[in-house]
Amino acid sequence: MRFPLSLYASMTRYLLGKKLRGEEQFPLVLMLEPTHRCNLTCSGCGRIREYHETLHQEMTLEECLHSVEEAETPVVTITGGEPLLYGEVSALVEALLARGKHIYFCTNGQLLEESLPRFRPHSHFTWNVHLDGSERIHDQIIRKPGGFKKALKGLMAAKKEGFRVSTNTTVYRETDVDDLEILFQELTEAGVDGILVAPGFSYEDVSQEVFLTRQEIMDKFRRIRTWAKRFPIISNPIYLDFLTGSRILQCTPWGNPTRNPQGWKSPCYLITDAHHKSFSELMEKTDWDHYVSGKDPRCAQCMVHCGFEPTVVRRMTGKDLLRMIRWNLDA
Ligand code: SF4
Repeated sequence: MRFPLSLYASMTRYLLGKKLRGEEQFPLVLMLEPTHRCNLTCSGCGRIREYHETLHQEMTLEECLHSVEEAETPVVTITGGEPLLYGEVSALVEALLARGKHIYFCTNGQLLEESLPRFRPHSHFTWNVHLDGSERIHDQIIRKPGGFKKALKGLMAAKKEGFRVSTNTTVYRETDVDDLEILFQELTEAGVDGILVAPGFSYEDVSQEVFLTRQEIMDKFRRIRTWAKRFPIISNPIYLDFLTGSRILQCTPWGNPTRNPQGWKSPCYLITDAHHKSFSELMEKTDWDHYVSGKDPRCAQCMVHCGFEPTVVRRMTGKDLLRMIRWNLDA
């Protein structure tokens, strides 16, 4: 099973509720960034560059919980920065579990092993460790020798303690697909529950040299998708159709809204045209039609999962649903 059944049940209940209320524009996954502080300076990271002047700021626990209530999503991705550096991190996780939320906790893994005693395994809680290549390549990207080994050790310790653990890999222009195959083999042998793989985010504050064009994304992902049976890849198969050019999707920029210490980021995880004080203000004041149209030049090469995966859910047909169920069971 690629995702726990309880996650499917929560998402289905949530979607039915929205449908019954006749709501059209609603989020699916909240991207919560309680802090942008980080213990690494990875070459492809936009956050530590865009928010370099406010890295010391943190959301309060109350602000985090209020944001979760505003968005109402069944799934919360806690990310950053390195969220293990957030002062109230274990209280935040416990409070979200008490509210029945499903948590994907993104971490670079450097503090994972020593942080495990502050958390408990739970069917709604998944560590999501970021690894962008096999040892030598990953250490180059994160600019820290020994970083890969440390993350892998943390990941294996978490598995031993009974946590669900997945990994997240970003594919950049220089990414060698052969190297990803080595990485995914190693992760599969380490017993990870899922491998998420997606094209790099084209942040405005990072040199555009590292990011792929749509054509380059399709070329790399045509090979990656052939590994679906060998490795526990959890990237959505319909989203993979889009990444390999066999399906056209429009962006759903409100699908994975981002809340950080500056407010609600508009319009999406990548572009910052404004920060809003509340979720309702984000929804009301953002010109969604403009971004959905794809006419903004910053959207031209974008295929990022937080923009396009929500479209899969929004536009799902009965045939797609059956395919998704089979795919989830076939692992
Ligand atoms: S296509 Fe969507 S997710 Fe990508 S940059 Fe544009 S608005 Fe953001």
